[in-house]
Amino acid sequence: MAALEIEQIPVLKDNFVYLAREPVSGAVAAVDPAVAAPVLERAKSLGWRITHILNTHHHPDHIGGNLEIKAATGCVIVGPGHDPDRIPGMDIQVRDCDTYDLGQARAEVFFVPGHTRGHIAFWFRDSAALFCGDTLFSIGCGRLFEGTPQQMWTSLSRLRALPPETRVYCAHEYTESNIRFALSVDPDNAALRKRDAEVRALRAAGKYSVPALLGAERAANPFLRADAPELAAAVGLAGRDPVEVFAEIRRRKDVF
Ligand code: ZN
Ligand code: FE
Repeated sequence: MAALEIEQIPVLKDNFVYLAREPVSGAVAAVDPAVAAPVLERAKSLGWRITHILNTHHHPDHIGGNLEIKAATGCVIVGPGHDPDRIPGMDIQVRDCDTYDLGQARAEVFFVPGHTRGHIAFWFRDSAALFCGDTLFSIGCGRLFEGTPQQMWTSLSRLRALPPETRVYCAHEYTESNIRFALSVDPDNAALRKRDAEVRALRAAGKYSVPALLGAERAANPFLRADAPELAAAVGLAGRDPVEVFAEIRRRKDVF
């Protein structure tokens, strides 16, 4: 199995589209193409030919470029079989625990409902790369538009269990505002303060805070820490079920 080369393309206000190239076959996937033109341009400038689109969920800022890129390249669109009717141009439906081979790079598929009812994530084990759309962000998580706290906590718990060296290629640059909120519920967390300093330095240098390292997220992201006693205590729910703690943290973030 081959390791991916990954390019990060900032589009719209704060979205990231990724191009992932498997170097042996030359297969190239555009992950969650919000728009077409900048993605096609980047591929062209790299001399890469887009052969696939991978979609995590149906929101416009993740599928907006699907049909134009497909028309321009003839690529194959791979998306969630849990959401068969809302992914434009979808050719191949993948579901929880499926694998999909991008050339010689294998993706393992996780069904991670919560942000939407059909959301999936693609984990390329041999590249230590997780494309998780709007489920997990650096120091945050997606809003619960179509799912319950129980579903989202289960989804995040599965992603949290991946190896700590996993790079989290999420779909938005939301980290600074996520950190401001996180410090309001978890102010004494040294890992969070470290991430705050790191992100300030990155952003001041004009760099992205994404991808994030999963091991660091596990220690610093409050939405991955709903089962940590100190966080439960901090939101007044000591000893309660992690789902209740998660729901309370998410509720506070919604109105922060
Ligand atoms: Zn979304
Ligand atoms: Fe989004």
